[in-house]
Amino acid sequence: MQLRLGFFGVLVLQVLTCPPALVALQAGDSFQLHFLNVGQGDATLIQLGNKGVLVDAGRGDDIVLLLQDLGVDTLLAAIASHNHDDHIGGMDAVLADWPVGRYLYNGLDAPNRNAAAVLEWLDARGVPSPDPPWEPIVLGDAVIRVLPSPLEDQGDENNASLVVLVERGRFRALLTGDSEVEELNALLAARLVGDVDVLKAAHHGARNGVTPGWLQRTRPEVVVISVGPNNYGHPDPWAMRYYQAGGRRVLRTDREGTVTVTVEGGAV
Ligand SMILES: [Zn+2]
Repeated sequence: MQLRLGFFGVLVLQVLTCPPALVALQAGDSFQLHFLNVGQGDATLIQLGNKGVLVDAGRGDDIVLLLQDLGVDTLLAAIASHNHDDHIGGMDAVLADWPVGRYLYNGLDAPNRNAAAVLEWLDARGVPSPDPPWEPIVLGDAVIRVLPSPLEDQGDENNASLVVLVERGRFRALLTGDSEVEELNALLAARLVGDVDVLKAAHHGARNGVTPGWLQRTRPEVVVISVGPNNYGHPDPWAMRYYQAGGRRVLRTDREGTVTVTVEGGAV
């Protein structure tokens, strides 16, 4: 499934204001968000040319072939929304096979094999994993802001999901891992989120990953649900009603395969 969104005008100004150390924007490079089909799990690649930022890596090593097919040779950052297997199961393979500029995660000490493997690879490859607050990640004329959960020290992985806001010109996309209502409400209360164009549904379309207030604030035009065969009832029928209200476009990776959003207007 391919979607193309055009946002001309603002982008040119942003290119001109980019500091020179940033990834150069080549004419013809297209800026894309790939919501990768990794079954029941999450993996989103934000890509400009052969550079990318990966948010989550699915449950297994499928991610390697998917990234190879997309022609990414460098990851400015790999971000784990949280430490559950369906989000970091493929992260050790990514760290083994790609140059990764930095690894950002929620800092929780997760007692699972995948989290341990990630820490081993960070050490083996010398990939830094700084504590928050994090500098925005600049990918050409796009800015990727990564925020820790506004809920402090509650220890629950889902509600400790990192929040990722992708901005390019007037385009906005928001990824919130497996955040549940508690974290979504905290984001609203702290006024950390606003209108977006594309929203990755929290928690694979679970009932506890959406509220009417969340959609009133974020006002997405497109919702992407990263989901595969599962026994959890994802996506939940009531959540689907919320997402589909008003004729909003809702795309599911289990039905559409990988969903790619192309944001046009940056080629100069
Ligand atoms: Zn999950």
